Amino acid sequence: MSRRAGLLAFALAASSVSVAGAGPTTDEPGPGEPGSMVPSGIDRGYVRPPPGTPVPVAHGLSKIIFVNPCRGGCTFTKSTPGSSDAFGNQTWLGDAPVGSSISISEFAHSQQVWDETIACIREVYSPYGVEVVDVDPGPIPHHEAVLAGRASELPIGGALGVAPLGGGQCEPANNVISFSFANNHGPSATMTVAQRMCWTVAQESAHSYGLDHEFDCSDPLTYIDGCGQKFFRNKAIRCGRGRVEECICGGATQNSHARLTAALGVGTLPPPPTLTVSAPINNSTVQPGFSVIATAIDRRGVARVEVSINGWRWSVVEGVFGKTTPYLVAIPAGVPDGIMELDVRACNDLDVCATQRVTVTRGLPCASAEACAVGQRCDAGRCFWDPPTGVIGDACTYAQACVSEVCADIGSGDLACTENCFGGPNDQCPVGFECSGATGQQGVCAPPPEPGGCCAVTGAGGSGDGAGTTAVAVNLGLGALIGLVAIRRRRRRG
Ligand SMILES: [Zn+2]
Repeated sequence: MSRRAGLLAFALAASSVSVAGAGPTTDEPGPGEPGSMVPSGIDRGYVRPPPGTPVPVAHGLSKIIFVNPCRGGCTFTKSTPGSSDAFGNQTWLGDAPVGSSISISEFAHSQQVWDETIACIREVYSPYGVEVVDVDPGPIPHHEAVLAGRASELPIGGALGVAPLGGGQCEPANNVISFSFANNHGPSATMTVAQRMCWTVAQESAHSYGLDHEFDCSDPLTYIDGCGQKFFRNKAIRCGRGRVEECICGGATQNSHARLTAALGVGTLPPPPTLTVSAPINNSTVQPGFSVIATAIDRRGVARVEVSINGWRWSVVEGVFGKTTPYLVAIPAGVPDGIMELDVRACNDLDVCATQRVTVTRGLPCASAEACAVGQRCDAGRCFWDPPTGVIGDACTYAQACVSEVCADIGSGDLACTENCFGGPNDQCPVGFECSGATGQQGVCAPPPEPGGCCAVTGAGGSGDGAGTTAVAVNLGLGALIGLVAIRRRRRRG
């Protein structure tokens, strides 16, 4: 029986359900054998503890990750399934007999590679309330991330790493041990060995906090090589290893950043992107159809570049991973003439943003609100909307009056601030409102029809689906506002 098969059999015998890494592309002998430093292994697995495994978080989840290089070698005792103890050096992972001793050889790469790897792990975990150390914190609860040895020493076949999946029900586990087999790691075509070990440690430790795999190469929970240094992402990502799979913890997606923030609390957020606006030039005159040209670079990648004009966000462009050439952000034709204070913002996926202001003039500065868009005021040559105050149910005549940015017919032809929604049993409309759309169809939150009444409420007209990328590039033609005033709210990442 191969070690992989043994691991599978073990997990099944433990009436557990999953061994990640048992997918069709990872069932090879893999990089786990002596002498190999091949970069091809993509197997960073987890094993789900048996049902009923106690989750020792009564005193709160430990806020320490101890990355252990096993200088001089480590010794662990093989324990019964589900019982892991970081300061008692007990692990239930691997195929060794219960009660036997497991020896893990020390980290075999250079000190420089160690330092690079630790720096990377610290950066990746920096947004969360956890400290990454490489000195044993002693007999206090901690997460121990072994970064040493080979898979064949645990033993576990064909793996670059393995961890218990949280407490068995996808909740964070405390004081457990994960393994990242440093001496099975090498560089790949696009990643250094330090980046690849950082990836593995981040993934295995996150497994122990209850996180599943994700099918996105920019997040450490992926199986996909490349994309440079990986970061826990603040976005809904489909689960899966070599392909999209069901999330083992339920649902179709996972937000690793949100999950870790919930488990560990907030740490130190990264700096904002580096933003350079090259056009238009400050204090210049622009023509109809002008665009903003800006370069935005962030180690994490840029999530979006947006332009607000006199306080209102008119245009949003989604970030492109790894892009170093400028973004072109078109300004909608519906923006009224006059003096424009352009606030160009570039944000990463954690909503840390850089802003640069450029003031330009197009046409004549407004002399009165008549030259402005519906609902706007004119002051000092600028057309602008007051900050929105309308909440759901408040009468409105234009979308920018509503906090939700949606002003729509909520029945009987009355325009009111409302929210977009999808019809169905859980339509997420506030109490007293229900979604006007049929099940699965987009509508707006509206009061339920009067008993015996009529008049199914139609959807939000022009709100469309939008998919969130360009839908906010609103074009409000003057006078075109009647009946078509819903603006799809762009959901903030946060
Ligand atoms: Zn994994």
